[in-house]
Parts: sequence; structure tokens; C-alpha cells
Amino acid sequence: MKTVLITGAGIGIGRASALAFGQAGYRVIVTDILADEGAAAVKEIADAGGTAEFYHLDVTSTDNANQVVAKIETAYGAIDTIVCNAGIAHKVPLEDMTDEKWDFTFDVDLKGMFRVIRPALAQMKKANTGSIICLSSCMGVMYGWDEHVHYSAAKAGVVGLVRGLANELARDGIKVNGVAPGYIRTAQLLSEKHSLGEEGAQKAGAFIPMGRIGQPDDIADVIVFLASEKARYLTGQVISVDGGLGVGRY
Ligand code: NAP
Repeated sequence: MKTVLITGAGIGIGRASALAFGQAGYRVIVTDILADEGAAAVKEIADAGGTAEFYHLDVTSTDNANQVVAKIETAYGAIDTIVCNAGIAHKVPLEDMTDEKWDFTFDVDLKGMFRVIRPALAQMKKANTGSIICLSSCMGVMYGWDEHVHYSAAKAGVVGLVRGLANELARDGIKVNGVAPGYIRTAQLLSEKHSLGEEGAQKAGAFIPMGRIGQPDDIADVIVFLASEKARYLTGQVISVDGGLGVGRY
């Protein structure tokens, strides 16, 4: 049975990905800082006949990342797929942008990905196979987002992370790709304080060529595809999954 580790998998896109990997027959390592939500995701996967476990994993902690990866490897061997999904998108106007606020977003959204990937690489290389998928954003690959400059910058950084890792790991049989979601109906997008909120989400849906904002499983299905053998010759790419948002004319 293949093992997938997903960060921030208690809610939103991470949770939808956990359920999709469960259906695809993977052992799903659900990780998050949200214990109740993580446990609920595990139960939902198990109720559907799948296999899953929850681990607390705060991606800002190197020790925590190293320990969780080591525990999984001791139990199951090399991790097959890592989905670096955990992310925050705090609204901070430039006049309030302290070093601390900037660094915290980078610590979660960019370095947090590397922290989880790094300890898993030795075993993945030995196995000479594996897939890593990192969540960027439309705000990292095509738009700038006012009052979220640190987020846009970190998500653009994810593109560089994917390209660099893809090159360095290709000959070890490990492919590395990214997904750049458009507007997806999750707690992050629906936050009135930090993002579009419900009304903004509805307005956005009207000008997306497909006529709606995305659902978490619209992203999850692409992530499962990227992890699969069907995407065997695909590496170093960040795929926009946005209902046509980026190519739309309005
Ligand atoms: P979400 O609903 O807010 O879920 C993100 C998860 O990550 C939450 O469980 C969150 O916990 C967790 N998390 C936050 N900080 C963490 C940390 N330090 N360590 C581990 N987990 C942490 O977000 P989402 O909308 O599903 O987004 C998933 C990914 O897609 C993110 O990287 C996001 O930036 C990206 N994305 C989303 C959209 C969209 O429209 N939704 C668009 C483009 C890109 P808390 O709730 O406690 O923070």
C-alpha cells in the first residue's frame, strides 16, 4: 500500500485530498495543527473503507516534521507521496507589514514545505520513486494580491521550490510538481477578515469562465493525478486549476 503524507489536511483542500487519496487506495497520513478536524478526516476515510492516521504536524517546527516523518518511515518505509498543502493567507496592509508578519507567512507557506520534504528524501531516494506536490496559488503564478504581498511572494517562491527540487531529484526517480488553485471554497477563501468572504466569493464566481468558484475536490483530483503513474513524465510544473480564471477576458 502506498503512503501519502498531507499537511494541513484537517480542512479545505488538504482534507479533500486526504479523502481522494483514501479512495485511491493509499494509506493516508493526515497531519495538521487542528487535531479534532484531523481526527474527523481520518474517521471519514476509515468509514469509506480507507486507511488513515492522524499526526500533529506544525510545519513551522523542524523537530516536529523530522519526528513525524521518522515515525511513518519506521512503520511503513519510504513515503511515496507528500502533499505540501498547509498554508495561511493573512491580510496585512504594507504599513503594518513587520518583519515578524512577513517571516511568519514565509515560515508556514514556503519553508514549511521544505521542512516536511527534507527528512523524507533519503528514504525516497533509496526507493528511487516518489512524488511531491506543493500548493502554490493564482496569487503566486499570475496575479499580485494587494494587502497580501508576503503571501504572493511566498506562493511565487513555491514555483522556484518546485523547479529546483524537480531538477535535483529527477534522477532519483522523484517527481515534484505544484498546483496553483484559483478561488476555491474553503475557510481560507471565505474568511471575511483575510480574504474574499462569502459575498466576494459569489462575485468572483460570476467572472470565472466556468461560472463558479472551485470546490476543494476540484483541486484534490488533480493532486491525486499528479501523484499517479499517469503523470510519470511530468515534473517541475505548476498547474493552474482555476476554472479558466487566468485565461478569462473580463
Ligand atoms: P484552509 O482551509 O485554511 O486549510 C489550511 C490548513 O492548513 C488548515 O487546517 C490550517 O490550520 C493548516 N495550517 C495552518 N498553519 C499550519 C501550520 N503551521 N502547520 C500545519 N498546518 C497549518 O486552506 P485551503 O484554502 O484549503 O488552502 C490549502 C492550500 O491551498 C494553502 O496552501 C493555500 O494557500 C492554497 N490555496 C488556496 C486557495 C483557495 O482559494 N482556497 C487558493 C490558492 C491557493 P488553521 O485553520 O488553524 O490555520
